[in-house]
Amino acid sequence: KPLKLGNTISNMSNGSKSLKRKYEKISATSSIMDKYRDLDQNGLVQVKYIWIDGTGEFLRCKSKTFDFEPTSPDQLPIWNFDGTSTGQATGDESDVFIRPIALFRDPFRPGPNKLVLCETLDRQYEPTPTNNRRKCLEYMEKAKDQVPWFGLEQEYTLLDLDRHPYGWPKLGYPAPQGPYYCGVGADKVYGREVVEAHYRACMYAGIRISGTNAETMPAQWEFQVGPCEGIEAGDQLIVARFILHRVCEDFGVVATLDPKPILGDWNGAGCHCNFSTKEMREPGGYNAIEKAILKLSEVHHQHIAYYDPHGGRDNERRLTGAHETETIDAFSYGVANRGCSVRIPKQTFDDQCGYFEDRRPSSNCDPYNVTAALVKTCCLKGED
Ligand code: ADP
Ligand code: MN
Ligand code: MN
Ligand code: MN
Ligand code: MN
Repeated sequence: KPLKLGNTISNMSNGSKSLKRKYEKISATSSIMDKYRDLDQNGLVQVKYIWIDGTGEFLRCKSKTFDFEPTSPDQLPIWNFDGTSTGQATGDESDVFIRPIALFRDPFRPGPNKLVLCETLDRQYEPTPTNNRRKCLEYMEKAKDQVPWFGLEQEYTLLDLDRHPYGWPKLGYPAPQGPYYCGVGADKVYGREVVEAHYRACMYAGIRISGTNAETMPAQWEFQVGPCEGIEAGDQLIVARFILHRVCEDFGVVATLDPKPILGDWNGAGCHCNFSTKEMREPGGYNAIEKAILKLSEVHHQHIAYYDPHGGRDNERRLTGAHETETIDAFSYGVANRGCSVRIPKQTFDDQCGYFEDRRPSSNCDPYNVTAALVKTCCLKGED
């Protein structure tokens, strides 16, 4: 339960003192690092391979040196890693392959250096169990002529290294929710530096980041990626998440994608998926939107199983019917209604065309599963 306001204020000042110390430490470290970053690379290029690990939720990475600057992922070789250390293999068959699929500029190593998103393949070069991209790509190829677009709203919560919410008083709670969403002021938002650094780093990398905002719970933030067509939505979101975790390293904080990081009267975190097809975006597209929502209503539970990495168990904590959610067992939709499973933006209703928002995916969802499920149900009904 939230503490009384008097209590909160006295604890709040303790919180800010520790933040100030943290920033002093950060600026000392960054001037040391500048010295090494400014050294020339002697004609070589660093490429960071990134992949989803055996949890289907967390990311891993490692670096490889090249003597040329790659301009497309297929110029980079398949590489491998020790799958026993990532929950992706057993000891006697420990090699897992990583195949480059999407290339970005590396904002942490400016210059010719790259980030490359990879898919994971087993020793027969078949997708590993957490490689959901393959299936997603299949659906996207089949639905290509409908030109599916996605806009993903990634909510996350900043934590201190002790996993206490960033900037929260170490004893007790901040004042109740209300002033924080899209807030401004040192007593309203915590960690804006992280958000700004991530925003610019994403732009530099080549992520189609469409915006950011402070969320309802203090220390909770959101960034949006999109609109992206087809498979690109998942690719871009995974790399944007990687950049977030890497930026947080620099600030000595942790970004959690847990969908309900703090129990009680505090909003959870989602990854709303905004969706449209060519038909929905064109004049009179509202009919196609209603048809798609009807199809979604018939397979609600199947979608819930794909909307978090634990078959719906993570979303059980979040989709409670409170805090701008519908309950996990019910499907509902409405114009401008944020208590529904699916929201039709007021603008879309007024224009009679546009897109709709599926509010069910949890913040830690696999975006390939979410976008695949939407395309399968709305564009390819009946196909496996
Ligand atoms: P909300 O009002 O729910 O907070 P946001 O502004 O955070 O919405 O996010 C909306 C997302 O939808 C953005 O990423 C935006 O790029 C995306 N978007 C806009 N138009 C479309 C469209 N026609 N189809 C799919 N996504 C879209
Ligand atoms: Mn080794
Ligand atoms: Mn949003
Ligand atoms: Mn939000
Ligand atoms: Mn939203």
